[in-house]
Amino acid sequence: MSLSSEPSAEQWAAAVAAVRSAGPDDEVQLICHVNPDGDALGSMLGFGLGLRRLGFTRLRATFPGEFVVPDPYAALPGSDLLVPEAEAFDDPRLILVFDVASESRLGGLAGLLTAAPCSVVLDHHASNTGFGMVRLVDPRAAATSVVAEQLLARLGVPLDQEIAECLYVALATDTGSFKFDMTTAAVHELAARLIATGIRPGEISRRVFDSRPFGAMKLTGEVLGRAVLEPGAAGGRGMVWTYATLADLERHAQPPYVLDTLIDPVRSVADADVSVVVKQVAAGEWSVSLRSKGAVDVSGVAVAQGGGGHRLAAGFTGYGEVGEVVDGVRRLLDAFLN
Ligand code: 5GP
Ligand code: MN
Repeated sequence: MSLSSEPSAEQWAAAVAAVRSAGPDDEVQLICHVNPDGDALGSMLGFGLGLRRLGFTRLRATFPGEFVVPDPYAALPGSDLLVPEAEAFDDPRLILVFDVASESRLGGLAGLLTAAPCSVVLDHHASNTGFGMVRLVDPRAAATSVVAEQLLARLGVPLDQEIAECLYVALATDTGSFKFDMTTAAVHELAARLIATGIRPGEISRRVFDSRPFGAMKLTGEVLGRAVLEPGAAGGRGMVWTYATLADLERHAQPPYVLDTLIDPVRSVADADVSVVVKQVAAGEWSVSLRSKGAVDVSGVAVAQGGGGHRLAAGFTGYGEVGEVVDGVRRLLDAFLN
């Protein structure tokens, strides 16, 4: 399924009804995607705090896989809601899902969603596969937190500083600090309303964007040093790529999430439209980040490889040697452009 429009009035009403159908003592499980980023955690925790303000008492938030919250997001308000995947409610009354484009991004939690009597999916990926009972998927939204804020407003939850900080982190990370194409006037208006609660954007940005261990900087230097520019790739629009292995992480004693922002310096290379970072997850398994400056729909490449994302920012899991993974991307780019 490919979506091009925002949720309908019926879908908003169904989402409000779904939340209101649960009582304050019902178990409500919030879930975001594997290897959560700022939007996944920020929209989930901001919404969780909103439910707390509505009187819900049995709230848990989780994500599949290893229970590691990246340092930049460790101090987010509402972090007390977070539990490891194994401690999710067994049989929640309501499940809310944040920033998840496909069920594969739910890992072992996908079954919980299928079994739940009621589920609401909040997302903004055009590639969203259309799972869950009530779907609030707005591919024009700059972040899932935009959708989360709209649902909170419809539920009558006023913004406070804690909710605002979560939603602001989500908005700032998914817009690349208000730089990407999705950064509309409405995005700035939302940011203004969030900042008006009294949150400190400078302090938040330093914590989220401008703070990392020395080892992460050294690792970044090495990985960027081995980048390859292929001017003829992507139909002559150019591709720049690099990779990082588990051994690289180990050598610098860094956790995998420090590689999440590595795509940013790579995609800034002016000589290439397409940028690719291939990050080892396990032996023969790689998490691939794709970006385009506009000439190529990289979500098509990602979807063809079993992944997903947005037109200009997408990803998938690749298998084999790093060279084979990059070969696959190169071939698909050629296929899409010819
Ligand atoms: P990133 O490169 O920052 O990890 O991801 C870029 C975009 O692609 C995000 O919107 C993310 O949700 C999506 N994405 C990344 N990896 C995958 C994947 O394996 N499957 C799907 N469906 N989407 C992905
Ligand atoms: Mn997002």
